[in-house]
Amino acid sequence: MNNPQISIVAPLYNESETFPHLVERLNSLMDRLPLSIEVVLIDDGSRDNTATLMQALALSDPRYHCVFLARNHGHQLALSAGMNEARGTEAIMVIDGDLQDPPELLEDFYKLYKEGYDVVYAVRRKRKEGWIKRLAYHSFYRILRSISYIDIPLDSGDFALVSRRVVDVMNAMPEESRYLRGMRTWVGFKQTGVEYERDERIAGESKYSFALLFKLAYNGIFNFSEFPIKLLTRLGGTAIAFSMMYFIYNLIKKYVLGMDVPQGFPATLFAIIFFGGLNLFGLGIIGEYVLRIFFQSKGRPLFIIKSKILNKQWEK
Ligand code: UDP
Ligand code: MG
Repeated sequence: MNNPQISIVAPLYNESETFPHLVERLNSLMDRLPLSIEVVLIDDGSRDNTATLMQALALSDPRYHCVFLARNHGHQLALSAGMNEARGTEAIMVIDGDLQDPPELLEDFYKLYKEGYDVVYAVRRKRKEGWIKRLAYHSFYRILRSISYIDIPLDSGDFALVSRRVVDVMNAMPEESRYLRGMRTWVGFKQTGVEYERDERIAGESKYSFALLFKLAYNGIFNFSEFPIKLLTRLGGTAIAFSMMYFIYNLIKKYVLGMDVPQGFPATLFAIIFFGGLNLFGLGIIGEYVLRIFFQSKGRPLFIIKSKILNKQWEK
């Protein structure tokens, strides 16, 4: 059998309630579109009967490919497993399995893909979640964007259509703490966003607790920024400079202007700020070395070539 043009990758963790709806929506989408599409479903170690439902579906419908993970690995790793399995030759659409991301957006995504975009990501115009979660998401993306060294688009999650060549690069990135939306941005090529309204879950509950969201946010910040470490060096440097100025100010006050300077206090304050600053500065310097080890250990490709023009006479 030939490989399909498009793969739709959806991770599922205890989604037996939403499962029939998901299949229905995906089926009608596949029936309607003049594209060859496979669906890759990943069971992320579900404890309900999601896996049984998946099994029955894959046995009766050849468009579905099912992958069962040995235990719960979390959303990002489940998606990574699916992206590894996907065989779509043109592009792969990553989608939540709870229908919060409308699969029908594939049509708009695909149009843009055909216009030459390698990544078409969905941007959430409105969220139908509680205000605390909305506020948390809203501020997180803005903080991340301001401290990150890549231009992570605001309010976009993993929901996206990604070209085969970008998926290949992402699959070849061996970093184990995965923040896929950051990795996707990091790869480059032409990327664009499509606005959509994120639906509510039709059934079941969010599997992302606040603790898990924080973990994801941490991965986003620490995998794609150097700023926290630079901040240490800068704060330390500022404190040292400040303590020196304070020292000189007191010297001038006493010896040039002949004014009274209280005994002990200025010296103590100077020592506290100076040595505190020195500590921070030193930590920042160690941090710079750790950062280099950290980035080296990620084993990311050094560069990604878009295309080449090689003239015959130069070929080896
Ligand atoms: N999910 C998963 N493994 C997990 C947690 C979630 O595969 O450990 C799946 C889940 O079944 C859903 C998608 O990832 O299809 C998004 O999760 P969820 O809806 O809980 O997150 P939210 O939409 O609330 O951010
Ligand atoms: Mg959800």
